[in-house]
Amino acid sequence: MDAAEFRRRGREMIDYMANYLENIEQRVVYPDLEPGYLRPLIPSEAPLEPEAYDDIMKDVERVIMPGVVHWNSPYFYAYFAVGSSYPSMLADMLCGALGCVGFTWAASPACTELETVMLDWLGKMLHLPECFLAGAGSHGGGVIQGTASESTLVTLLAARSKAIQQAKISYPEKSEGEILSKLMSYTSEQAHSSVERAALLGGVKVRKVPTDNYAVRKDMLKKMLVEDKAAGFIPFYFCATLGTTSSCAFDKIAELGPICNEENIWMHIDAAYAGSAFICPEFRPLLNGVEFADSFNFSPHKWLLINFDCSTLWLKKRTDLTEAFNVDPLYLKHENQDSGLTTDYRHWQIPLGRRFRSLKMWFVFRMYGVQGLQAHIRKQVMLAKEFESLVRADKRFEICAEVIMGLVCFRLKDSNELNQKLLKKITESRVIHLVPCQLYDKFVLRFAICARATESHHIQSAWRRITQLTVELFQEPSQ
Ligand code: PLP
Repeated sequence: MDAAEFRRRGREMIDYMANYLENIEQRVVYPDLEPGYLRPLIPSEAPLEPEAYDDIMKDVERVIMPGVVHWNSPYFYAYFAVGSSYPSMLADMLCGALGCVGFTWAASPACTELETVMLDWLGKMLHLPECFLAGAGSHGGGVIQGTASESTLVTLLAARSKAIQQAKISYPEKSEGEILSKLMSYTSEQAHSSVERAALLGGVKVRKVPTDNYAVRKDMLKKMLVEDKAAGFIPFYFCATLGTTSSCAFDKIAELGPICNEENIWMHIDAAYAGSAFICPEFRPLLNGVEFADSFNFSPHKWLLINFDCSTLWLKKRTDLTEAFNVDPLYLKHENQDSGLTTDYRHWQIPLGRRFRSLKMWFVFRMYGVQGLQAHIRKQVMLAKEFESLVRADKRFEICAEVIMGLVCFRLKDSNELNQKLLKKITESRVIHLVPCQLYDKFVLRFAICARATESHHIQSAWRRITQLTVELFQEPSQ
């Protein structure tokens, strides 16, 4: 493909993408396929001779589209929202064209510098305390990670490294292995599984703190700390959640933060989904207490109209992370690395290579403006409230957790088995797509407003479908 053909095919691809997104609701949101569907549809080996582009595009419809779950469909209500917008997609194309790998400032200064400034822009949109921003004289700053899981992992590893150094001073008789075996991390029983995974990857123990109304309060954490210290453990890391995956509950960080600070425990905040909403003043109070945190993360690729991947992490003291795993081979060195005027993002993350992801932030922030982004969040919250009212008006159903943002947890006022059957019918109908969660002992259906294109009439039609399937369920002979 030469530049002339690239121009032609590029225009066609943009048309294909725009048509796909404009007409997405005509596609079945959740495919009906058996595992292994794809292998028989394509040859078992790569072609020896080049093939025609038109044939590849035909195969996109024949092979790929039947196996795609349409996350941008207004009938997709599973998991959490996924960011998508035209400016973000265009910026991603530009990123592909530049193809730079910005591991150090010298590897592509614009890639590093735009990221630092975008993290400050976004930090200011959230009214993060100054200490998290990278301005002159600050010890803090932000970085783009691929996912919330990576943010949790790198902060846990940094906290582990810090705790080991401190424990070596307090207990000089203990070996590093002994100290490691005593380190204890904490998170909510409602936290995302990625926190437990980070502890496993980091080789440290983790305890799950019980919740009150799905949120961790200070007494629950305090009790565990007393028990564990008495048993000889060294508490070193607490991951709070703002906007839990199951029910969008908010740990009481303003209560928990001071305890973590007193006990010398690194407090990380995982606000993967809900963090985007903190750009709206009405939701910002939920972030009060962030001033006690050592690190804070949320994923603009979830709810801020930026395409995957883009998960933003801020640190109060960036050297806690950048100096924890410092290696400095000659081939990565450059003359400006010790100038104090720049940073090398290779020290902030697990991989070395990194894409120019801040371009997506820059395009989206400029084309929507803060007001446009706030309007997007508010519209989706309003749609969730609309769905909540529909559920509340039907006496067969109950709402299972306070609806604060774009997630509604609901169920039939009946057994877990019946709710499981209802979800099975919904999934098999393939008209809308949702996933369940477990809230204490209850099997609950999660209805998350996800796609940018979702409107009130989609919500109304989704609810009609759910109630029709409920009627059918009650008419089944076994009921
Ligand atoms: N934390 C929370 C609260 C989440 O809801 C999720 C995913 O939905 C994650 C972490 C994991 O996100 P990621 O896929 O970006 O690692």
